[in-house]
Amino acid sequence: MSFTASSITPPTLNQPPSPCSAADLAGADVAALLKRLSNSDYYCTELIAATLIPQASTSLVGQLLKLAQNSAKPLARRNALRVLGRFAERPAGEPAHDLVIRSSPAGVRDLDGINAGPALAGQLAHETDEDSLHEILWILDAYFYPLFNIQGYLESASANISNSDRLRFRCISAYARLMYARDKLNPHELAFLNASLRSDDFWVRAEAAFIFEQLRPEQVTKAEREYIYQALKQAWQTEQLLTPRQYMARAIDHFNGNSILSSQLRGECETQWLPNTLVHHDISVRSALPDVEALRFIKLMENERQAFFDLLGPEFTTPVANDPNDKITLMLFASKANYIEYMNAFVGYGAQAGGLYIERDGKLYTFLRTRAESTFTVEQLIQHEFGHYLQGRYVYQHLWSDAGYHTEPRGWADEGLAEYLGGLQFDANGRCCGTNRPEHVNSICGCADLCDLNGLICRREGYDQPGTFDYPNAWSFMHYLCTHRLDVARRLFRAMRNGQYRDEAFDAVAGVPLAQLQHEWHNTMTNWRNGGAVETMMPPTDSPSIITSIIEGLFRPRKPLNPDRLPSSDASTRIV
Ligand SMILES: [Zn+2]
Repeated sequence: MSFTASSITPPTLNQPPSPCSAADLAGADVAALLKRLSNSDYYCTELIAATLIPQASTSLVGQLLKLAQNSAKPLARRNALRVLGRFAERPAGEPAHDLVIRSSPAGVRDLDGINAGPALAGQLAHETDEDSLHEILWILDAYFYPLFNIQGYLESASANISNSDRLRFRCISAYARLMYARDKLNPHELAFLNASLRSDDFWVRAEAAFIFEQLRPEQVTKAEREYIYQALKQAWQTEQLLTPRQYMARAIDHFNGNSILSSQLRGECETQWLPNTLVHHDISVRSALPDVEALRFIKLMENERQAFFDLLGPEFTTPVANDPNDKITLMLFASKANYIEYMNAFVGYGAQAGGLYIERDGKLYTFLRTRAESTFTVEQLIQHEFGHYLQGRYVYQHLWSDAGYHTEPRGWADEGLAEYLGGLQFDANGRCCGTNRPEHVNSICGCADLCDLNGLICRREGYDQPGTFDYPNAWSFMHYLCTHRLDVARRLFRAMRNGQYRDEAFDAVAGVPLAQLQHEWHNTMTNWRNGGAVETMMPPTDSPSIITSIIEGLFRPRKPLNPDRLPSSDASTRIV
């Protein structure tokens, strides 16, 4: 559980944001770039960092440090820190990295008495701008770890009620990493963590319990272990919120060498929030819904699976070797609040997503929602995540978390097909009768440039690396393939299933040059931009002909369920 730099929300843009392009910056000298940095928005700052990296020198790093420390403008300090962080993350041996990270006496002299690590650590005590504090903590925790002289700041900042929740959690998380680097914890640190178990901030309480859970036996004496155990039990007695309660339960279990308390808590929570289980073949739905409603979701997933098989062909009906998920459970919460609480407490991530399929558990987590809570309907969300389940079982060998799983970038295929399946619509007989993703079409029509296909198929950001994935274009390319080039789609997915897909050999695997596919795909999108209809090919089923239909550009979500009207029900399991 930790923040990364990419999880920080970009600051509010200057109004109006200054236009900024790499070409525009390329001709500017260092002085002009630094001047511009003081007023740059988030995106321009990143471009300036990229422009400055090859020009790194002792003088430049010194100027950036002075700007970061002395500027009266918070935005200038924050931007200079971001650039220093981008310098630091370059590989060792590059001047940008070495000049920021260097801590030798020679480095101190080179930087005119300034050295990045201690200088930034000193800035923590008086920096008042939260964005700048996050940047400093990012740099120090990532590139100067372990830096024990920031421990005092982390203690006071995580306990300071005037700090934001986000900063307090970041500080206690950085503290956790420092404690991990200690050979032994001292009495002061134990007392601080004990007090943190009763913090007013529930994530600080949870993280303090997490630190205790993660301690190595040699870090504390037998008497100190007993002190921690009693502190955890006392905190557990009075803790009211589910998330810290579960973290405390796990820590207590750790000391007891079992998982009794945490399993019990999870079981109680599921009994309360997901009392009913409906099982049909390999699909289970846990929810508070009556059977008739739960069955609707089972049918939806079965329809989608049939459409998936129809789309990719009969060879995809056999699971890939050693796939462990011959069953899937939909964990369908009645409200977003319950979902968030459950994910925070028991899964550890995904609380901010609309839903999540976790391959190693064979479970799909999501919640019933109203139009106001989510752009996507629960059906679309389930279809998207179930699309990941289908691909995990029938296309990709190994599991997401296995070594080598991400050797080839294939977010375009995994997310693209999940989005495509997420938009399928089914008639009363369960046959696919159309697709509907007008929000993606609108997004593409609203962009100045058409997407570069090579960039899309190489894209990792937002898939297996931090960032935001390009869902509209991944959907659009998959829609194009499925509608106009199903043969190519099948060849690509077949290569993935056989472990023969290579990003570098895309043309050979696809059987069509990438440039040609891009040309045809772009023509399709240009037609949309000119007001042309979005063509949809139904997956071929028992009909020999390919049916082409036209969908309307209007977004018509299905009627969401109203959780308030759901009848209460006793916990039960039924098989249909
Ligand atoms: Zn996805």
